[in-house]
Amino acid sequence: MSNAVTAANTWVATVLTLFPDMFPGPLGFSLAGKALETGIWRLETVDFRSFARDKHRSVDASPAGGGPGMVLRPDVLAAAIDDVRGRDKDQRPLIYLTPRGAPLHQKRVQALRMSPGVVLICGRFEGVDERLLQSRGIEEVSLGDFVLSGGEPAALALMDAVVRLLPGVAGNPGALEEESFEGGLLEYPHYTKPNEWEGMAIPPVLLSGNHEEIRAWRKARSQEITQRRRPDLWRRYSAGTKENE
Ligand code: SAH
Repeated sequence: MSNAVTAANTWVATVLTLFPDMFPGPLGFSLAGKALETGIWRLETVDFRSFARDKHRSVDASPAGGGPGMVLRPDVLAAAIDDVRGRDKDQRPLIYLTPRGAPLHQKRVQALRMSPGVVLICGRFEGVDERLLQSRGIEEVSLGDFVLSGGEPAALALMDAVVRLLPGVAGNPGALEEESFEGGLLEYPHYTKPNEWEGMAIPPVLLSGNHEEIRAWRKARSQEITQRRRPDLWRRYSAGTKENE
């Protein structure tokens, strides 16, 4: 019974990969590592090579139509996915990490935190056979407009972003609300001791003890930085604030 309770609250990530030894990697340390130990989340890896059926255990083949590189076979990956889904009563979202996917945003991260977990597929070589993506209702998610050599670092990044939001993981949950993207803006600049460093002083308002003024100063800096660095975010933010007025 107590197991069932734990299972219901534990966020479970299953990662399909050819390199299970890459996990938990950096997520075995610090807050995520502690949360893994205490069972706030669980990480399972599936080496999909074990689903290869030919005598060479091959998971890839050359691209139809020619061209460089190799492509991951749909039959091998499908067998691995079907096995995972067959024992997944929660039907967690199934995500393939790929530069062709929808860019990962904090909103999606927050939604994933609310789900019972996630199943992640890590590509290698040129990626996976297109028919696999069509046949298994796979969501495609990208970490950004650059190309990695494999999906593993992207899977680690996605899990890191979710795990830090799980209840009981962050030392100070209040810190999460102030962060970049939470209010549609980038974060304001931070300062700490010493008060003067290499001839540069901390902005005096931050040492004034006037919380109202500090809040206003931080909001203004957030807006300024967002407007300057991320016109795309800024447009969405200003449209949103107009709507709310
Ligand atoms: N030929 C592909 C790139 C393959 S890179 C293309 O041009 O789109 C090999 C694997 O790394 C991919 O299958 C994917 O799982 C992973 N990968 C590479 N870049 C990524 C990114 N920006 N976000 C998420 N996964 C990525």
